Amino acid sequence: MKQILVVGSLNMDTVIETPHMPKCGETITGKSVEQIPGGKGANQAYAVGKLGGKVVMLGAVGDDTKGQQLLDNLNAVNVDVSHVEKLKAVPTGQAYITVDSNGDNAIIIIAGANGKVTKKLIRENRELICGSDIIVMQLEIPLEVVQYVKELAVEEGKTIILDPAPARSDIPESLWNGIDFIKPNETEIGILTGTGMGDRKERICAARELIRKGVKNVIVTLGGEGCIHVTADSEEYFPAHKVKAVDTTAAGDCFTAAFALALSQGKNCREAISFGQKASAIAVTRKGAQTSIPTLEEIREYGG
Ligand code: ATP
Repeated sequence: MKQILVVGSLNMDTVIETPHMPKCGETITGKSVEQIPGGKGANQAYAVGKLGGKVVMLGAVGDDTKGQQLLDNLNAVNVDVSHVEKLKAVPTGQAYITVDSNGDNAIIIIAGANGKVTKKLIRENRELICGSDIIVMQLEIPLEVVQYVKELAVEEGKTIILDPAPARSDIPESLWNGIDFIKPNETEIGILTGTGMGDRKERICAARELIRKGVKNVIVTLGGEGCIHVTADSEEYFPAHKVKAVDTTAAGDCFTAAFALALSQGKNCREAISFGQKASAIAVTRKGAQTSIPTLEEIREYGG
């Protein structure tokens, strides 16, 4: 089986359920509070592991209880966490997630150890890039580190998947060249390209701008509407499965991980998108980030 390397963040999420999102200056009473392992990198590594893929995580946690809980949690689904750095005097990354009664969310992230991932850690673990087939990244660790991993991965001829979240408008053009797959959601594609939200046609134009800069495939996810796959000379719309969404946290992480797993098993891009959509449709019917990830059997029962 091909190995997937996830280079990214690990967070402990505090999830608060509320009847509605508090407005600026408003105080409301929440319904519940829970601590759940998260972080886009860890979510994606966890999902690949839970789906039975061969996966290694590279990143950093603090030398604290939360960090150990995150590593134990990944270990439990066979993610190799032996290369995750444990940093002294830096807290483990954290995220505060508010989920309203529609299942929509608002998130604040404290980077902690994720912000201290360095090129040195990558250099020391270069053999992991060489020994993996697919490299999956997000933007919750320093951008210069993402750029460095991308350069090494291009040099080694690896398949690179970038989930460009949280999106930012200051990404150097040089990052895009050589990326095989990028998966922004509809807000992120607007931020990345400075084009705002817009309709489907505008999103396709924005995706083509990233393709002109060197990305090979852009998959714009549209939440409950599905996604659009755009290449230099094609575009295809994939409608989402109709489900009752309870919590959309990590729908995108689940999609990216299932997509990467399918590619690692030799599936083509269309098949991998279809697999990602089934996995994420199940995930949105459950609460939490990693806790919402389905098993392979559940996806098969769903027709995957
Ligand atoms: P997040 O930031 O919450 O991890 P995202 O914004 O990156 O998610 P989305 O575009 O919300 O990603 O969703 C990714 C995929 O998940 C969609 O393309 C779709 O296949 C599936 N999905 C999301 N929401 C729903 C929904 N309400 N019903 C069915 N499928 C959904």
